[in-house]
Amino acid sequence: MKNIAILGSTGSIGTQTLDIVRNNPDLCVKGLGAGRNIDLLEKQIREFNPELVSVQDEADAADLRARIADTNVRVASGMEGLIEVATMSGTDMLVTAIVGMIGIRPTIEAIKAGKDIALANKETLVTAGHLIMPLAEEKHVQILPVDSEHSAIFQVLHGEQKKEIAKLLITASGGPFRGRKYSDLQNVTVEDTLKHPNWVMGQKITVDSATLVNKGLEVMEAHWLFGVDLSDIQVVVQPKSIIHSMVEFRDGAVIAQLGTPDMHLPIQYALFYPERRPLGGDRLDFRRLREITFEEPDMETFLGLPMAIEAARTGGSMPTVFNAANEAAVKLFLSRKVSFTDIYKIIRSSMDRHKLIENPDLEAVLATEEDTRQWIESRW
Ligand code: NDP
Repeated sequence: MKNIAILGSTGSIGTQTLDIVRNNPDLCVKGLGAGRNIDLLEKQIREFNPELVSVQDEADAADLRARIADTNVRVASGMEGLIEVATMSGTDMLVTAIVGMIGIRPTIEAIKAGKDIALANKETLVTAGHLIMPLAEEKHVQILPVDSEHSAIFQVLHGEQKKEIAKLLITASGGPFRGRKYSDLQNVTVEDTLKHPNWVMGQKITVDSATLVNKGLEVMEAHWLFGVDLSDIQVVVQPKSIIHSMVEFRDGAVIAQLGTPDMHLPIQYALFYPERRPLGGDRLDFRRLREITFEEPDMETFLGLPMAIEAARTGGSMPTVFNAANEAAVKLFLSRKVSFTDIYKIIRSSMDRHKLIENPDLEAVLATEEDTRQWIESRW
C-alpha cells in the first residue's frame, strides 16, 4: 500500500491524480488540500475517505465541517492546513498539484518530514530550487517530476549517467498564438488565450503556455531537477505535443519520449516510479501520424521565454521576481484588468526595478514575492 497526500486535489492535475488512485487499489489517499471548490472537495472526501483535508479559508472550512459532520475527516485551513496535510504522519508521498508559489512552504516542510514529492507545482522549484534540491538530497527524498516535459526527460535518463548528458531538448507546442507577431497579440482575449491546441489544463498554466512563460519556467525547472546548465537546455517547438522532450547525449545519440498528450501517464509514472503500470487511453498510431515538425521558438514575439532565461541567468532573487510578477499579471489578465501584452510589460518593469539578492533564503524569497506583488497591485 502506498499512502499519499495531494495538495491541489480539486484542480486539473489533482483530479487526474485521483483518476490514477481509482484505478490502483494499492494507492490510499490520506490527505487532500484544496482552495475554494468545497463542492468538489466534499465529493472527493466521500469517495476517498482521507483522514485530513485543508481548504484556503477558515469560513469554507467551517462550512465543510458542517457538511461532512457524518464522517471522521478533520478539516484544517490556510497555510497551516496545507503544511499539516503535507507533513501528516503515515504518508509516503506528497503530490504538489497546487498552483503558484504558495506551494513553497508545504513542499519544504514535506521534504523535512521525509516525504517523497511528485512535483507538478513548478513555481516552487523555479523560485526556491536552490533551497529545495539540496534539502531533498540531505533528507534522502526523491523529487519526481509530473510536468510532462520533465517526466519525459526523467524517463529518458532512466539508467543513464548525468555526466553523459550533452543537452536537454524541451519541446513546446507554441501555444494558441503560434505563428502570430507581437502586434497581433495586442487585442487577444481571455477566451482566445484559454484555447490551448493540445492540452486541457488549469487557467494559469494555460495563459503561461500562450505567453511562453510556461516554457521559461520549465527551463528553470529542468535546470534544478537535472542539474544541467542553462546553456545546455534548448527549447524546440513541436506543435502537436507528441514528443514530450528529448535528451542529447555526448556521443550524439538523441533519445525522446513520445505519447499522446495525456497527463495521466507522467502522474502515474511519478506515483509508481520505477514501475510502469498499465494505463488506458489513446495510443500513437504512426501510420496516421505521418510527420512530426519542428520550429524555433519566436523569441521576438513571445517574450515570456527570453525574459525567463534572462531571470534564470541573473539568478539569485530574479527568478522569484519573474515568477511573482507573472502570477500577479496573469491574475490581472484573467480578471480583464490588463491586456495580454501587458503581462510582458508587468514582468519587464518588475525585473527592471528589482535590487538583486544574490543567494536568498526562504524568508528573502517570500519577501521578494510579497514586494513584487504589492508593487504591481499599487500600479495596475
Ligand atoms: P488548477 O488551477 O487546475 O488547480 C490548482 C489547484 O490548487 C486547485 O485544486 C486549487 O483549489 C488549488 N489552490 C489554488 N490556490 C490555493 C490556495 N491558496 N490554497 C490551497 N489550494 C489552492 O491548476 P493545474 O492543476 O493546471 O496546475 C497545478 C500545478 O501543476 C501548477 O503549478 C501547474 O503549472 C502544474 N502543471 C499543470 C499541468 C496540467 O496539465 N494542468 C501540467 C504540468 C504542470 P480550488 O480549485 O479548490 O480553488
